[in-house]
Amino acid sequence: MPRAKLPADIMELVGTVWCGPKNHCVVYWLRGGELLNFVGCPEEASLGEESWTQRRPWQELKAAYAGWHPKIQAIIDAAERDQCYRWSLFDRKPIYDWSTERVTLLGDAAHPTLPFIAQGACMAIEDGAVLARALEEAGSVPEALELYQRARVERCARVVQESAEHGTLYHIKDATQMKKAFADRNIARERAQWLFNYDPLRVPLQDEELPL
Ligand SMILES: Cc1cc2nc3c(=O)[nH]c(=O)nc-3n(C[C@H](O)[C@H](O)[C@H](O)COP(=O)(O)OP(=O)(O)OC[C@H]3O[C@@H](n4cnc5c(N)ncnc54)[C@H](O)[C@@H]3O)c2cc1C
Repeated sequence: MPRAKLPADIMELVGTVWCGPKNHCVVYWLRGGELLNFVGCPEEASLGEESWTQRRPWQELKAAYAGWHPKIQAIIDAAERDQCYRWSLFDRKPIYDWSTERVTLLGDAAHPTLPFIAQGACMAIEDGAVLARALEEAGSVPEALELYQRARVERCARVVQESAEHGTLYHIKDATQMKKAFADRNIARERAQWLFNYDPLRVPLQDEELPL
C-alpha cells in the first residue's frame, strides 16, 4: 500500500507482528517508508497450490481479519483489490546432507523455512558468503563443499526449527495464554544471543573448529 493511501499515524518506521487465534500478520515498510507491505498468515485446512503468483480476491483477505484492530482494517482497505497474492506455506523438516562431491545446494533449496522469524533470504546470503570462503580456502572442490556444509547445517536447522515454533507461539488461541507465552521469554535477547550475532565472514571453517 502506498503511504499516501494510509492514515498518517498508521505505524512508525518499524516492522510489526500482530498475533491472534490461528492467525498472525506482519506489516513492514519498504523503500524507506514509501510502501507498506502486509503479509497475513491465517491457518487454513486447504493446501492450495505451490505458487508465488496466484492472485486471490481481496474479500478473502478482508474476511481473514474480520474483527481485528482498526489499523489492520485501514491497511487492508487501502490494498489494491486485484493485488492480493496468496501462497501456501509448507513446513519441511531440516535436512543435513546438501552436497555430493561436486554439487551442493544453498538457500531455500537446502533449507526451506517458514518465514516466521524472517530468515530465509538471510540464510541464503549467509550460505553464499560461507561457500565463497570455503572455495577460496580449501584445496579442492569436494573439500570446500564439505567445509561449507559442516559450517552451515546446524545453524540452518536451528533457524528452520525456531521458525516453525514461532508459528505456534504467534497463533495461540487464548489471549491470556498468549500474553504469558510472550512474557515468559525475551525474544529480542534470545535472537541477539545466537541469530543476529552471527558473522558469515568470520564463522570458523576449519575441520578442527567444527562439531562432527
Ligand atoms: C511470505 C514470506 C515472507 C518472507 N519474509 C522473509 C523475510 O522477511 N526475511 C527473509 O530473510 N526471508 C524471508 N522469506 C524467505 C525468502 O523469500 C526466501 O528464503 C528466499 O527467497 C530464498 O532465496 P533462494 O534464492 O534460495 O530461492 P528463491 O528466491 O526461491 O529463488 C529460486 C529461483 O530459481 C528459479 N527457478 C526454479 N527452478 C528453476 C529452473 N528449473 N530453472 C531456472 N530457474 C529456476 C525460481 O523461479 C526462483 O526465481 C519470506 C518468504 C515468504 C514466503
